[in-house]
Amino acid sequence: MKHNSLPHALSCDLSSSGVPAHPITAYISLGSNMGARLEFLRCARTELEHRGVMIRASSPVYCTEPVGGPPQQDDFYNAVLEVLVTCSPLELLRGCQGVEQNAGRERLQHWGPRTLDLDILLYADRIISTSELQVPHPRMWERRFVLEPLADLAPQLVHPIVGKSVAALLQLLPESPRVCKVAETW
Ligand code: AMP
Repeated sequence: MKHNSLPHALSCDLSSSGVPAHPITAYISLGSNMGARLEFLRCARTELEHRGVMIRASSPVYCTEPVGGPPQQDDFYNAVLEVLVTCSPLELLRGCQGVEQNAGRERLQHWGPRTLDLDILLYADRIISTSELQVPHPRMWERRFVLEPLADLAPQLVHPIVGKSVAALLQLLPESPRVCKVAETW
C-alpha cells in the first residue's frame, strides 16, 4: 500500500559525513513473534515516523514459520516498509535499534523469540560491509518472508550485489518454509 506520491530518491548522494544530500529510498523489514504481533509492527511504523523516517509504502503482513533458532517459538508476523530517509545508514540502524528497545526487545537467545526485529534490507544501491552494519542485508535474498513482502512493493528492484531483481530472486527460492498473508493493510 502506497502512503503518498513523493518521487523515488534515485541515487545515493552521500556527503563525506555519510549524511545524504538528498532523501534516500531504503527498505526495512519488520518481524515479531511475541505478544500482540500486529500491534508491535504498527508501533514500529509509527515510531519510525516519529524519528523522522518517511513511510512511503507498507507491504501486506505475512505469517511465517520461524527459521532456525530454538524450537516451539510462535510464528512470525513479517512485513517490509519502503521509506525515505535523510540520515546516514548508521543513524538509520541506531534508529531501528531504538525502536526495537522501546518494544521491550531483549537479546536473550540468538535467533530466539522477539517482540520486534528491524533489519535494513537496502539503502539506495549502497553496499556497506562493516562489523556493525551490512547492507544489503546478507540473508535477505534467501528468505521468503523478506522477498515476498519486498516483491509486493518493488519487484523490479535489483539487488546491488547479486545483480538480480527481487522478483527473480523470489522465483529461485524453494516453496518451503511457506508464508501466508494475514493482513493486506495494517
Ligand atoms: P538481530 O539480532 O538479528 O537484530 O541482529 C542485530 C545485529 O545485526 C546488530 O548488532 C547489527 O549491528 C547487525 N546488523 C548488521 N547488518 C544489519 C542490517 N542490515 N540491519 C540490521 N542489523 C544489522
